[in-house]
Amino acid sequence: LFVSFEGIDGSGKSTQARRLAETLRAEGRNVVLTREPGGSPGAEEIRALLLQGDPDRWSPETEILLFTAARRDHLERVIRPALAEGKIVICDRFADSTRLYQGLRGSDLRAKVDALHDLMIGVEPDLTLLIDMEPAEGLKRALARHGPEARFEGFGEALQTQMRQGFLDLAAAAPQRFRLIDGARSEDAVASDCATALAEVMA
Ligand code: C5P
Repeated sequence: LFVSFEGIDGSGKSTQARRLAETLRAEGRNVVLTREPGGSPGAEEIRALLLQGDPDRWSPETEILLFTAARRDHLERVIRPALAEGKIVICDRFADSTRLYQGLRGSDLRAKVDALHDLMIGVEPDLTLLIDMEPAEGLKRALARHGPEARFEGFGEALQTQMRQGFLDLAAAAPQRFRLIDGARSEDAVASDCATALAEVMA
């Protein structure tokens, strides 16, 4: 089973992905917890190229190619082998993030993201847990823990708002894949909803 977590910066995806993995492991299940961009040695190298240094180093189109290259490596080396062994793969971000973060940067970019996805990736998670949250709250949380890779500082609340709506639109277009989780509650409450959503899909 392939599960992704999505949501705006600061929505708590990474914390919740880790907690879901811990819950499932405690039940004796075989879980691979991974993330994007990155998740395999090669893809982590591409992540460093994307997130460190000058944010304008790459054109939007080159950035789409790099994200897709990283995803392809991650898929080949980590995700597909784990799924073939019957493991549960929990991925912190997947293609939906690229559809929005890269797809929203220009009018024709979403079509390019989608075309490359069809050509080179071609898979979707079985379940996507969308942690939904007010952009102002997400931004506050994200800035509180910002590190050298934080790119959201330049994003601001307007882009976070666009991203949030974009995620909600993706969810509305694929309701069987997405579960919407209200992220503006306690960590425990969100974790419990994520575990319930997963149990429903596995039942
Ligand atoms: O999810 P994580 O915090 O690891 O993401 C690292 C940074 O990369 C974030 O600032 C996020 O906004 C950005 N990002 C991006 N395009 C993606 C995925 C993440 O710009 N497709």
